Amino acid sequence: MVRVRFAPSPTGIPHIGNTRSALFNYLFAKHNNGKFILRIEDTDRARFVPESEPAIYDILNWLELKWDEKYVQSERLEIYKKFADQLIEEGTAYKEDGAVKFKMPELGKTDWTDAVGNKKIEFKNEFQEDFVLIKSDGYPTYNFANVIDDHLMEITHVIRGDEFISSTPKHIQLYKAFGWDIPVFAHLPVIVGSDHQKLSKRHGAKSVLDYKKDGYLKEALINFMVLLGWNPGEDREILNISEMIKLFDLKDINTASPVFDNKKLEWMNGIYIRQLPVDELKSRLSHDFGGQAKLKNIDDVLLEKIVSLAQTRMTTLNDFYLLSGFIFENPKIALNSKEKEIAKELLQNLSSVSKWKQEEILKSTKEILFKNKIKMSAIYKIITGRETGLPLPQILEIIGKEKTVKLLENYK
Ligand code: GLU
Repeated sequence: MVRVRFAPSPTGIPHIGNTRSALFNYLFAKHNNGKFILRIEDTDRARFVPESEPAIYDILNWLELKWDEKYVQSERLEIYKKFADQLIEEGTAYKEDGAVKFKMPELGKTDWTDAVGNKKIEFKNEFQEDFVLIKSDGYPTYNFANVIDDHLMEITHVIRGDEFISSTPKHIQLYKAFGWDIPVFAHLPVIVGSDHQKLSKRHGAKSVLDYKKDGYLKEALINFMVLLGWNPGEDREILNISEMIKLFDLKDINTASPVFDNKKLEWMNGIYIRQLPVDELKSRLSHDFGGQAKLKNIDDVLLEKIVSLAQTRMTTLNDFYLLSGFIFENPKIALNSKEKEIAKELLQNLSSVSKWKQEEILKSTKEILFKNKIKMSAIYKIITGRETGLPLPQILEIIGKEKTVKLLENYK
């Protein structure tokens, strides 16, 4: 049975790079009816960040990447010690300054065929140094605990970022020293920014929780991440999770570094927002990032109409508040004296519209527009405080005459 793991170190809030590893492992497990294991690699106490571990759970839960088993390395210290003792006894490890070190072979080479690109990778042993298994604080190193656990947890495929390629010869020599089977390794090419440098905050990359906060949909983020290094063929870009599971194969992982393109993520998010049934979009707006508080006094039918109009113009969920905030936040809009005049004229015209329908509203605003030789955007600003947004006659019809009049009186 296929068993894979996502093994984050709680040293920060996971970003797109770590989370892509989780996704690829998850898809590979599901495609093969295997198991997806979460293992918290928290043995580096100096780099431990307390809020990191809950963030890992939050992210996996939000993205619905459900793990089948979970382990935490700091709860398994006895196990690592036992295996270190075994190596000392067998003569492949020794103690030095309170730490246990592994004796790397001095001759020959260590190699493996990586499942990404099916390419052989090899390292000369003469350039490899002995390395620490258990530190003087009693905690195992990443290299040691990682191998012990991959063996004990019967991991068949190790799918991880390619920054771990240089650690792999150490891991392979440990498997050999124990006489254990070596898993398949698949090292995912590092994600880069448009300047082809390793992705960082500088490129607009942020923690996955920030994407959530900024109004990205989990479906869009997953779809965006899966294309960072995997190619489903057929020139397809928009895939749902079941299609990904069905198609996912390690042989389709590109060997070239994927380029992170924030514009593409925005485009994709817009597509996913438009695909949501209005009801679902409304419910996400109310439940995600404080929407509940902002929307609690709005009539449900009215909200649904606003959501449905805004849906085609949103790139992120947050855009909803930019587009329609003027309806429920009652902002005081700063107008100059000319604008105040126009506001009065608008008020007069719109108050006398008898049939409150967008055609009538349009006709009535157009009169003001021609008379004052101004553009629709100027009128939009007088009413909403913003230059652009929702189509004016439609949104005014939706919010009603009374609310429109209130907005026109609400300037400073
Ligand atoms: N704990 C390592 C990390 O932080 C995991 C590397 C691996 O998957 O082997 O990414």
